[in-house]
Amino acid sequence: MVELNFQPGDYVKLRLALEEMEGRILESPDSSVFLIKLNSGYNVGIPKENILAGRVLKKFKEEPVKNYYLEKKDLPSIGLVITGGTIAAKLNPKTGGVHWLTNIEEFAKFYPEIFQIVNVKRIEVPFMTASESMTSDHWIKIAQTVNNLLLDSEIKGVVITHGTDFLSYTSAALSFFLKDLNKPVILTYSQRSIDRASSDANLNLQCAARMALSDAAEVMLVGHASINDDFCFSLRGTKVRKLHSSRRDAFKPINSIPLAKVWPDKIEFISNYTKRDDKKKPILDTGFTDKVALVKFYPGQSPDILDFYALKYKGIVIEAAGLGHLPVSEAEHSWLPNLKKHIKNGFVVCAVAQTIYGRLDPLVYSNGRELVNAGVIFLEDMLAETALVKLGFVLGHYGWKSKVKEKMLENFSGEFSERLTLNEI
Ligand code: ASP
Repeated sequence: MVELNFQPGDYVKLRLALEEMEGRILESPDSSVFLIKLNSGYNVGIPKENILAGRVLKKFKEEPVKNYYLEKKDLPSIGLVITGGTIAAKLNPKTGGVHWLTNIEEFAKFYPEIFQIVNVKRIEVPFMTASESMTSDHWIKIAQTVNNLLLDSEIKGVVITHGTDFLSYTSAALSFFLKDLNKPVILTYSQRSIDRASSDANLNLQCAARMALSDAAEVMLVGHASINDDFCFSLRGTKVRKLHSSRRDAFKPINSIPLAKVWPDKIEFISNYTKRDDKKKPILDTGFTDKVALVKFYPGQSPDILDFYALKYKGIVIEAAGLGHLPVSEAEHSWLPNLKKHIKNGFVVCAVAQTIYGRLDPLVYSNGRELVNAGVIFLEDMLAETALVKLGFVLGHYGWKSKVKEKMLENFSGEFSERLTLNEI
């Protein structure tokens, strides 16, 4: 067996019987195995006895972090909010695990390009959490942080970095919490961390910065438009969903078209949007109740589920079938008696389309008409997660108690769209 004096963090080249490989040595729990992070991002364990030869191509050296983040007063200013997720994580070269980029200098070191486009006047880190661990308290904290930045007259817009998994819940929440928005609020993300050659982080961040300077005063999500690393889409915060677990263009507009195509140095608007008005003052309204739930209907599901929710919750959103159908009078396990009973007692039941794309129309079949008569609120083409957040928002406003249906059907922040033309679908 050859004697190899590799240390965690070293970048090495190895010769095995049938192949050669390059990668970074990670700390290994087993001393008979070298654990290597390949350039593809995958980790492999190589038994030391299988290695015929090897050498260090680059010795690991801890880099000092300083002076990357400098105010550039001649550029237009934005505010930056960092909250966690892959875009704010970096690989620890010794362990192979990821660590948060909480240090602003370090963030700037990894993403120098954004600092060439804008002057990042203020950076806030309200918390560092992957989006699957967030709650409505996190949405509220982000909204408060963004609102403070928007009040700064020098700041043209705000960019928020966020995990991808539950990003569309946060974008919906901000769309409702920040009323009368005066400037752009941009959420961005990355699917692949900055340590990987295929990372989408840098382009997304640059396009987000560009969009934050635009004249669109909306909550938007900016990220890769395709799997190529060429330009991004800006998507409305209430009409977007993550539709792929790993692709760089994971986010798609649902029942809407992108607001704009965005490059690091230009924007091409492709649909209507609310215009920036620097004289307007945004209103922070974070009234919210967590006593709401999202239920996906499936064949054979018992209506007893409604008894459970009606006991502990104020309302639910049901992902109904087709144009808005659930088992009614013709079915043995009709949902009608339970729906009627609970709705009569003040429990709110809304329906959205399980098909994701398209619009509910409960008046086509008698099934839907029976549900309308029972008091189910049909939310047209609204996304399920947007509907859940909106229901929590509406029911969190106790003054709206007698107007829940009216408020759920009011278009607060582009959550309902006009019918799309065939070309736009
Ligand atoms: N689980 C991570 C999150 O949503 C994944 C990511 O950032 O993409 O925070």
